This record gives sequence, C-alpha cells and structure tokens, in this order.
Amino acid sequence: MTAYTLGSLLYEGKAKRVFQTDQADLVAVEYKDDATAFNALKKAQLAGKGLMNCQISARLFELLEREGIATHYLALQEPNWMVVKPVKIVPVEVVVRNIAFGSLCKQMPIDPGTPLDPPLLDLYYKDDAYGDPLLTEARLQRLGVLTPEQRQELERLAMAVNNALRSFFAGIDLELVDFKIELGFDAAGQLLVADEISPDTCRLWDRRISDAQDRILDKDRFRQDLGGVVEAYGEVLKRVQQACPTPRTSK
Ligand code: UDP
Repeated sequence: MTAYTLGSLLYEGKAKRVFQTDQADLVAVEYKDDATAFNALKKAQLAGKGLMNCQISARLFELLEREGIATHYLALQEPNWMVVKPVKIVPVEVVVRNIAFGSLCKQMPIDPGTPLDPPLLDLYYKDDAYGDPLLTEARLQRLGVLTPEQRQELERLAMAVNNALRSFFAGIDLELVDFKIELGFDAAGQLLVADEISPDTCRLWDRRISDAQDRILDKDRFRQDLGGVVEAYGEVLKRVQQACPTPRTSK
C-alpha cells in the first residue's frame, strides 16, 4: 500500500469518522472514544475505547479474511486508525443471536440466556430517525435496497461471520452472545463486511466467570451502568491480541 494524504471528512458517525484520501480506492477510519447507547440518549467519553475497538476490529477483520469472508479492511494505520476500501453501506443492520438477550427478550417471550440453535438472524432498518426498526420481509422488499439474491448473500455472509467469530471467541474463553454487522458494496459490486466488529457491536461473556454481571465484557456494561467498561474492553483486546498478535499495518 502506497502512502496517502488524508482528505476531507466524508462521514461522522457515533463512534467513528471516515475520511477521504488522495487515493480513490482507500478511505481512512478514525475510531473515537465517544460512547453512546439507546439511540444516543446516553453519552460518555471513554478514554482508550477508540484505540481498543480499532485494534480488536483489525484483528477480527483479518480473521474473517483468513476464513474466506471478504471485508472492507485493508490495514491498521495508527493505534486508532485503519484504512479500508470505500463501500456503499447497505442501510440494514444484520444481527445474529446465539443466546437470547437484549431487545429480543423485550419483544417476545423468551428468557434471557436461552440458547438459540440455529442462531437467529434479525434485520433492522439502519436509520436513527426511525429508531432502527426491525424489518419484515415485506418492508425490506418495499425499501428496495437489496435484490433477493443480494439479501441471500448478505444472510449467508452474516452466518459465516457468526461461525468464524463464535469459534474464535470460544478459543479465548469468550461466549459470543450476539452481534451486529453492517455490509456494503465495493466499486465492483461485491458485498463486503464493513463498519466495525468490537465490544460495541458484539455481546461477549467471559466463560471463566459465572456471575451474570461480572462476566459481561461488552457495551452492556455501559448501557446498564455496571462500571469497568474500559477494563472489560481491555480484557477482550488482551485475549484477542494473544491469539492474533500482529495485524497488518500500512507503514
Ligand atoms: N447492536 C449494535 N448497534 C445497534 C443495535 C444493536 O451494535 O444499533 C448490537 C448489540 O451490541 C448487540 C446486538 O447488536 O450485540 C443485538 O442487539 P439488540 O437487538 O439486543 O439490541 P439492544 O438490546 O442492544 O438494544
């Protein structure tokens, strides 16, 4: 990868900033320390979160790549920056659940902690103004953002991501409860796993701890005011780093 010059801000989300570069096939992503929950009603600054999520995401994207799953990730740059391929994000959040928790248990009669086999896949319309609503088959068709073939490919990729992440996390004593991914189309029209994969977007429970609160190593610590958020993310990074010590860097 050749050196590039940072260009203008393309997009600022709740946890990241995306910048253009002087190379058309390269955008730079800065991971921020901002933490938000409940559609940004709850906000905080968590020192080090951006760096940890960037470091964890880089390694998980590389893991997916090794499993033959295409992602937007190119390389880690600075501790909290990565370079990625530009993609057109599909406005659909794909959630895969291995264990019932969170919104699922508020929306249907299922006890938190119930194993889901096969895993449950939910699609949500990605738009904060509407509160990211759960999509039905008919609404997804009406939105017109995916052809039936693209939707099939998106679900196939999400399930493949679940298989890869679940067994990787199990190897470092972490239970992958559920996660959200976003996907986008590259210039050639290929669907890639994009955005981030981190304790902000995955529920992860420590298999070495049985206490239902103490085992939580993800954003639920922030959502539920459990404290120790940065420490929990640090524990995830430590274990991920032990399994995947050196991600690619662009310098
Ligand atoms: N998630 C996310 N962004 C969202 C909504 C959910 O990253 O906008 C993740 C969340 O961290 C969890 C999974 O997707 O790992 C399932 O979340 P759920 O639908 O249970 O919603 P929640 O209970 O977090 O509101």
